[in-house]
Amino acid sequence: MQPNPVVFSVILIVALACFAWSCYQRFRLILLGGPEDRFRPVGARLWAMLVYVFGQKRVVQRPYGVNHFIIFWSFIILMLANGEFLIKGVVPALSLSRLPAPLYHGLLLVFEIFSLLALISVTLGMARRLFFAPEYLGTSYAKARSGEAFLILGFIESLMIAYFLLHACEIALGHETAGAWMPVSALLAAGLKDLSPGALEAIGAAAWWIHALVLLVFLNLLPRSKHMHILTALPNCYFKSLDKPIVLPRENYARGGAFGVARVDQFTWKDLFDSYACAECGRCQDVCPATHTGKPLNPRQVVHDIKINLLKNGPALWKKQAPATPLIQPAGEATATAVHAPGAASAPVAEGTNSTDALWSCTTCGACVEVCPVCIEHLPKIVQMRRSLVEMESRFPEELLNLFENMEQRSNPWGIAPADRAKWAATMDIKPFEAGKTEYLFYVGCAGAFDARNKHVTVAMATILDAAGVSWGILGRDEKCCGDSLRRLGNEYIFETMAQANVEQFQKLGVTKIITLCPHCFSTLKNDYRAYGLKAEVIHHSQLLEQLLREGKLKLNHGVKELGPVVFHDSCYLGRHNDVYDAPRNVLAASGATTAGEPARSRDNSFCCGAGGGRMWMEEHLGSRINIDRVRELLSHKPGAICVTCPYCMTMIEDGLKDEKAEKTRVLDIAEVVAEALRPAPAGR
Ligand code: SF4
Ligand code: SF4
Repeated sequence: MQPNPVVFSVILIVALACFAWSCYQRFRLILLGGPEDRFRPVGARLWAMLVYVFGQKRVVQRPYGVNHFIIFWSFIILMLANGEFLIKGVVPALSLSRLPAPLYHGLLLVFEIFSLLALISVTLGMARRLFFAPEYLGTSYAKARSGEAFLILGFIESLMIAYFLLHACEIALGHETAGAWMPVSALLAAGLKDLSPGALEAIGAAAWWIHALVLLVFLNLLPRSKHMHILTALPNCYFKSLDKPIVLPRENYARGGAFGVARVDQFTWKDLFDSYACAECGRCQDVCPATHTGKPLNPRQVVHDIKINLLKNGPALWKKQAPATPLIQPAGEATATAVHAPGAASAPVAEGTNSTDALWSCTTCGACVEVCPVCIEHLPKIVQMRRSLVEMESRFPEELLNLFENMEQRSNPWGIAPADRAKWAATMDIKPFEAGKTEYLFYVGCAGAFDARNKHVTVAMATILDAAGVSWGILGRDEKCCGDSLRRLGNEYIFETMAQANVEQFQKLGVTKIITLCPHCFSTLKNDYRAYGLKAEVIHHSQLLEQLLREGKLKLNHGVKELGPVVFHDSCYLGRHNDVYDAPRNVLAASGATTAGEPARSRDNSFCCGAGGGRMWMEEHLGSRINIDRVRELLSHKPGAICVTCPYCMTMIEDGLKDEKAEKTRVLDIAEVVAEALRPAPAGR
């Protein structure tokens, strides 16, 4: 049943050479990317690899993830069987049967079990795609439900069937004496027992060649198909960002330099490697609020377009020639954002090119990054392309012009006079932060200082701080915007100026502890400002409230039952970007609130309010409204109140409630809930 070793050796060498050539062609293009250190620390990276690849952490969190888990582990284990198979084809004497019998028999049993499991799982995977595919496998994506997926699944099935058939023939012919350890093959052999030895030899030889040829064709398909992730997922998880991907590197403002990314070779090598690791599973698309509400952004498509752009332009770029396919839709082409008409359609773009409508649709919520099983970082790529649009071409939705001017000139999004920053405190005795005397700087933020609704939250927090005897002060008119929206929108230059000014001021005043009301200020000061030298401890008010309650410094007067059932909405910038999930929930519980239950999309799977990534300052002409989608979900819990921890969420959810004619449902910040509990108990309780 063994082939002629010489014939097979020639086939094997040709197949391996073709595979190596394909890999060389694909992977050398990665070197076009810019430098980035993603090699250290080794320990943490190995751990990430163990968790995400071998543990399949994010894969198993989804329905049918177990199916992939089984296929993955079968693949790993059967690599040994397939390696032996290929080697034995060249040197028949080299076989696992030379191992001590118990070990050999154990391996045979394991191979049988995993071959059977793989066969069942692959058949299930095919049936799922054919008969009950989830929506995200079949919508808004260039290569959805491609024939390639079926071809690969068919290959794996053929490999398993050929494996069993080959061994069944060997057992039936009496060539394999360890049949007792091969239950599936032995069962099949029993079914073949009436065949003549010649027929068994012929079937066995055919099975051997089918197995060998499918294996080698499969190997050669890997670097040229979506199944390239079999080669790249493991290193991609090793190279994953160990920081939160919302924190982008600073721009290098060297004279004559290019800022942001407008050409595929301006990405780093890791960004390019990411595009090779996509398994096209559609998870990112499924959780993206923009895709979900019918906008032209699909994170899976963004990653795919980067890969296609690299494959199309890479050979020319390698020869230092100009790329033919633009990475970003060129200026002058009609976009729905530019048209500014409700319901306007986005202009189609070529495969390999990202539409500007798509790039401006991102709320930087991070859901795509959080869910990707192979640790692809979509969000930073979108922001890098925005940087190029803003900084190199001054090309952005026109409503952002006011925002940029207001930020630059008045350091707040509305362009309100800085002297009005402390007006919220008109009826309170608020002290300015004093170097060496005040413990906490209360960084109020623009919404907390200027927005009529959010000023109530600021007053509530100030009242609580006083009630708990905290030493705190504000900067008043000297406070400047943290620059979060600018950074996410790609206006890095003004962000940089503001960040430097803020850090300088904090350092001059000796600020060591900062309280923020807004998760966007929190995340920017805590994470982004590290690159500008800020070392102060930054704490979100929900964390401080939890701490004050835990330490007994804050004594509440009654449980807030009068609010009715409360549903909590996670802010992306507090939760996903900073892993703060429990603090606000613990505070709510300590305040005696009755829970209306957790929304189906909560914690790291929470659904954005639609305002992050600078979307707060832009019109939402494309698709349906993100805040309405979220509000409907929250209202399905029939809450008396919705609790938030972010001024943007407050605005978006209140707006959504108005649209849904559900204004009776209150929206309260967590500080307002606590302030309510601080008041004397209502009469009769
Ligand atoms: S960050 Fe959020 S909005 Fe942007 S692509 Fe990812 S999931 Fe979509
Ligand atoms: S980017 Fe990640 S989550 Fe999205 S389709 Fe590719 S592998 Fe799946």
